[in-house]
Amino acid sequence: MTLASFTPGMPGTPDTPDAPATPTQAAPSQASGAARPYDALVIGGGVMGCSTALHLARGGMRVALVERGTLCREASGVNAGTLTLHMTRAALIPYAMRAWQMWMDAEKWLGMGVLATQAPGLTLAFTEGECELLTLRAQARRAQGAPIEIITPERARQIEPGLHPGLLMAGYCEIDGYASAYLTGRAMAHALKNAGVDVFQNSPVEVIESGDAGHIVHFDGEQSPLHGRRIVLAGGVWIENLLAMMGIHIPIKVLINQLIVTERLRPVMHSVLSVANGLLSLKQFANGTVLIGGGWQGDGNREQGGLEARPQNLVGNMRLAAYAVPALAEGRIARVWLGLEAETADALPLIGDVPGVAHAYVVGSAHSGYTSGPFMGRIMAQHILGQPPDLPLFNPARLLGMPMPGA
Ligand SMILES: Cc1cc2nc3c(=O)[nH]c(=O)nc-3n(C[C@H](O)[C@H](O)[C@H](O)COP(=O)(O)OP(=O)(O)OC[C@H]3O[C@@H](n4cnc5c(N)ncnc54)[C@H](O)[C@@H]3O)c2cc1C
Repeated sequence: MTLASFTPGMPGTPDTPDAPATPTQAAPSQASGAARPYDALVIGGGVMGCSTALHLARGGMRVALVERGTLCREASGVNAGTLTLHMTRAALIPYAMRAWQMWMDAEKWLGMGVLATQAPGLTLAFTEGECELLTLRAQARRAQGAPIEIITPERARQIEPGLHPGLLMAGYCEIDGYASAYLTGRAMAHALKNAGVDVFQNSPVEVIESGDAGHIVHFDGEQSPLHGRRIVLAGGVWIENLLAMMGIHIPIKVLINQLIVTERLRPVMHSVLSVANGLLSLKQFANGTVLIGGGWQGDGNREQGGLEARPQNLVGNMRLAAYAVPALAEGRIARVWLGLEAETADALPLIGDVPGVAHAYVVGSAHSGYTSGPFMGRIMAQHILGQPPDLPLFNPARLLGMPMPGA
């Protein structure tokens, strides 16, 4: 089917967001209101896509959100949940600060919380090299408005008594904390339903056709295509594949992050910790488990999935964690999981128009994108709604032809 021959009125049946559909539930329907093309199709139900869809619907648009699996079960549901400025690129600090507040207020705008918890954030430096890195990065982030100060090891141990005695320096930020990434999909589904967004889960988009009349997305098998006047690509690491469906080539690097959760421990820490070399983040939840996010990567790839932990890297992450907080040596690993994070060639996000394709937009590939996601979805929606965005977008066209460093 082409755009010229497409007859609006054949979309699949949207799921109830609370009850994931099987592909057969997303069968053709002439149901109420389905005859009109959507004002916007959002492809990808992670935090970026959900926030964009929600804000578009609240801005008055009729919106369909299309997700290959279930809402927020890729990066947005398996991440470490750290809501931090310490690990956010300096240029993204103003975005992360606004988004941090949105997470803390999740019950107000989503109608359901994600256990967002404010906690002090400390970045630790154990070597001269880390001290230098910490000082430079804290300076750059402070220049963008992050209230990060450099503190002595004594002061750091007043805040977090269990730190290793070898600590040389720390960065301290009050605006820090964490959420339960696992609860993100539930909260987003609740909000999307209340905003009237039609959510199609278990619906992998295979082909996108774009023309003057808008965009048609096609699925494998029996599921009917969907038609939208506008389209937003919010496919996380798969943005590269979605853009390729439109003939646009922007490489997206895939990071295979590994997370470790320990068994329940006595209280050993209450702040959010990271190490200045960027290789570790740590937090202890109310139930006593400690989540250890390591910078050392696992194995797998975007196309086939099949992610596998690299044991030697897990050991490295555990060792570094137990060095930073010696009491962690008492703990045993309860579970390990992996997830895919996206990065562009200049490590800044894509938020804006798809180059050369009318009424097509892309949002994602932000560093620390869980922290910033709700706000980035909001400014994407503001742009589409013709409103001035609260902060500038990141024009995807800048990345055309830019090689991926190290590729
Ligand atoms: C293990 C791990 C730990 C992390 N820790 C943190 C952290 O502590 N703090 C932080 O701020 N950030 C963290 N991040 C980064 C953060 O999780 C991501 O930047 C953010 O969640 C990306 O959101 P997204 O919506 O762009 O992508 P995703 O959540 O990946 O969503 C994209 C969605 O698009 C869907 N999709 C793709 N292709 C198609 C298609 N063809 N048809 C339909 N749907 C499609 C996918 O199924 C997916 O659900 C971490 C990431 C990982 C992997």
